[in-house]
Amino acid sequence: MNNAEIIELTHRNLVDVYGCLPIAWSRGHGAYLYDADGNRYLDFFCGLAVTNLGHGNPRVVRAIKDQAEKLTHVSNVFHTEPTARLAERLATRFGKGRVFFGNSGAEANEAAIKLARRWGHSEGGGRYEILSTLGSFHGRTMATLSATGQEKYHQGFQPLMPGFPLVPFNDLAALERARSERTVALMVEPIQGEGGVVVPAPDYLKRLRDFCDRNKMLLILDEIQTGIGRTGTFFAYEHVGIKPDIVTLAKALGGGLPIGAMIAREEIATSFTPGSHGTTFGGNPVATAAANAVLDALEQDGVLENATTVGTYILERLSKFAKSCERIAEVRGRGMMIGVVLRHEARGIVEACLKDKLIVNGTAGNVLRLLPPLTLTREEADAALEIVERALKSAPAAK
Ligand SMILES: *Cc1c(COP(=O)(O)O)cnc(C)c1O
Repeated sequence: MNNAEIIELTHRNLVDVYGCLPIAWSRGHGAYLYDADGNRYLDFFCGLAVTNLGHGNPRVVRAIKDQAEKLTHVSNVFHTEPTARLAERLATRFGKGRVFFGNSGAEANEAAIKLARRWGHSEGGGRYEILSTLGSFHGRTMATLSATGQEKYHQGFQPLMPGFPLVPFNDLAALERARSERTVALMVEPIQGEGGVVVPAPDYLKRLRDFCDRNKMLLILDEIQTGIGRTGTFFAYEHVGIKPDIVTLAKALGGGLPIGAMIAREEIATSFTPGSHGTTFGGNPVATAAANAVLDALEQDGVLENATTVGTYILERLSKFAKSCERIAEVRGRGMMIGVVLRHEARGIVEACLKDKLIVNGTAGNVLRLLPPLTLTREEADAALEIVERALKSAPAAK
């Protein structure tokens, strides 16, 4: 099928929630995607921070093929080696952690929310409120939606779940004011992704850690977008030398396969007991085999170092360009998670880049979000930035 046929068939049958761009992809290789008509695009989107190793990474492909041939599913009533190994690797990276596997980011956060409430019931004197921040994004299930600090996602779904007071991001005084005798935890992204690549003050996370310690609250870090090397370290919190009580991962963990993980400090994780939580597909051996291959690549192929060097290069080149570009208000981010804040809607620039065969994303209205593969070369970065800069010089500003 060609592009037009696939798109027509999609629109005829799928529930219309995504506002798709008019391209159907047929294959990918490294930093490149090929559409169903054979056109090649440079991918600075990575399926929303999922394909962090690029498309068709040989380690991931091999792991999926091998595991698919052996065994694809047994349920959590039994054990499999890839799942046991992945849990051990994640628990060790976190340090004295326990892991719960789900199939998505929302499910990882849902597990974190439920664990925090369980812990609040048994250890936390009946506290249950979880503070979260304005502009955050934590998922689309009812609980994670209720924790998401963006009204546009709430439209028409009220009443939301109670117990999620919102406070401004990067504002400690507001946090002190919002805390009550009911507050059990704080849930926050180290860098807000969907909210526009919003980078907090350098000491923000440290001060959140102190705040939670002082008030015997759990610090839940949502690293679904920032994790798996996106910012140049495996967890973004490693940059500031703190450790959360609970961290959630998903997106890039499975190298393109659906998997989510919640990792909690051992003494908190024990609030979950047999029967208190679960999901049929969680820890599926094909997904965990792929995730093990992702970790192998991060550990052995210099991926994190590359994300730091090439990411810094992109940030610097764009910052320099911004000085002579009226339309740019700010360039921000870390590693391979970069936001170009425009003085107008990002949509026109996204479309101009697409015409030039570069896939970028617009978020929070006026933020151009760049999420290239962590394996991007300097040459590929230059090719993409030339397209971005050309679009910013010449594309008409959409309203
Ligand atoms: C994408 C995302 C989620 C939700 O993940 P899904 O897999 O779409 O459910 C939650 N938190 C953050 C920070 C995200 O970027």
